[in-house]
Amino acid sequence: MEECIFCRIAAGEIPCRKVYEDDSVLAFDDIQPMAPVHVLIIPKVHVATVMDVDAARMANLAAMMEAAQKVAILKGVEQSGFRLVINCHREGGQVIFHLHMHLLGGQQLRNALN
Ligand code: AMP
Ligand code: ZN
Repeated sequence: MEECIFCRIAAGEIPCRKVYEDDSVLAFDDIQPMAPVHVLIIPKVHVATVMDVDAARMANLAAMMEAAQKVAILKGVEQSGFRLVINCHREGGQVIFHLHMHLLGGQQLRNALN
């Protein structure tokens, strides 16, 4: 998976602004933030989309959710609020095909979903 940019970030081959890391998950600031807080949370193993999360990989998704709570606290938005988004495939707006969760906050977010 050397051609996958998020695998390369997870391997330390491409730099990122790391927010949180544990054995299975890495979280880093989005390079083109859409809100004052915009963090991407990824599994270190390659999973292409949320549709590829089978029973064996459900632990990765659980770890991403745990990491999201920690990132929210680290970024100081655990009380003010934030949004978690996973884009899937073309119409969902997925551009990078390595599973990732967006954590957005630090301002009042609008209800628009597009
Ligand atoms: P998505 O549209 O859900 O696939 O989101 C991909 C996200 O990855 C976008 O918000 C990009 O700004 C972000 N992104 C792309 N390359 C990098 C990078 N090298 N470091 C951090 N974020 C990135
Ligand atoms: Zn990957």
